[in-house]
Amino acid sequence: MLFSTAGYYKKRRYRQKDIEKAMIYEAIADTPGTTRKQLHKSLKLRPNNVTDYVQELVEEQLVIEHDPKITKKGRPEIPLSIFEDKHLSIAVWVVSSELIGAFVNSNGQISKMKSIVLDSNTDNEVFKQAVKNIIEEKLMQISKYQYLIGIGFSLPGIINRKEKIWHFNSRWPSVKDFGFSSLEELFNTPIALEQIIDAELTALISKTKKINTKNNLLIHWGYGIGASFSNKGDIVYSTAGSFSELGHLKMVANDGEYCTCGDRGCLETVSSIRALLPHLRKKYGILPENENELAEKLQDFTFQEDPIINYAIDTMAEAVNIAYRILFPDLIFIYGPLLLNSSIQKKLFELLVSKLPSYSKDKVSIEFIDFNISLMNAQGCTMGFFKKKFREILRARH
Ligand SMILES: [Zn+2]
Repeated sequence: MLFSTAGYYKKRRYRQKDIEKAMIYEAIADTPGTTRKQLHKSLKLRPNNVTDYVQELVEEQLVIEHDPKITKKGRPEIPLSIFEDKHLSIAVWVVSSELIGAFVNSNGQISKMKSIVLDSNTDNEVFKQAVKNIIEEKLMQISKYQYLIGIGFSLPGIINRKEKIWHFNSRWPSVKDFGFSSLEELFNTPIALEQIIDAELTALISKTKKINTKNNLLIHWGYGIGASFSNKGDIVYSTAGSFSELGHLKMVANDGEYCTCGDRGCLETVSSIRALLPHLRKKYGILPENENELAEKLQDFTFQEDPIINYAIDTMAEAVNIAYRILFPDLIFIYGPLLLNSSIQKKLFELLVSKLPSYSKDKVSIEFIDFNISLMNAQGCTMGFFKKKFREILRARH
């Protein structure tokens, strides 16, 4: 499973029977086909408790019993699996100029994707209609045995998670102060908004259980530059809507170029793809804006002698070093189209390591991850619904 309800119950000292029921459900989810006997052995729980809680889960239609297998001793054993698609969320996220919607189940599996391309003139009305089209199509695809528990959005730009307002984004600048409350009422389903990078870090933490207990910094070095930070498995949010404005750290003395934020000399004016693209195009010809496509093109270029690219890498390393010294994460994950180029990745890594304080060189690890993690948006922006739902439904009834 992508998250542990049993772990949540343990941490908060829920009743032992709640913890055991959740452990059983999660063990069945992780090993489909397991039996009551195997659960009793692997979880070291009393056979009667296993029988009772499995019975509850079967009655609640969270677990399915399959045809019995005859064991060597001749006793039939019933393989168990979870009903994965009983609870569903709809995720809506953005890739370049596409708005994509899909179902996500509690295991993070994504299905029935639908995509709508929106041009740069899209305004609030057009955006609302596109969202309605996606959600209405998904609602038609839900069977009477399934429950929609929430609709999650992973969005670029500035959002207010609490008020559910999307204030601004540079992809569709005419979509402004878009409120999601009317859609919440219309579909009678809870809606949650996440910043893209926060949704990605949420999913990354869940997929890699070992980093759950660490402090992690995820950095996106792309068209814009942003970061998300998690403390022991929880994303750190700020009341201003976004935790980090890494891309708008003032990195250039004596003002520098104007930035999209209205200020001057920000990191993004030197190191972002937005700033570098005119230079790259002049030197290497036609290049796409889409980060996935751009990454493929940049992979094989040689940048060693390019002072503009070198300055971009140096400034990026300096900004990451500042973020490191403020937050002291255990793990730094960085992704972006430029990093698929091995010479750029190598140079950034060497610079970052050289800038680390001597006492912490062996305490932090820097990882470059596959930058195409857009599907993690879908998981990250809906996971909150599943966590909340499972905390309610996995409690023992007896
Ligand atoms: Zn700026």
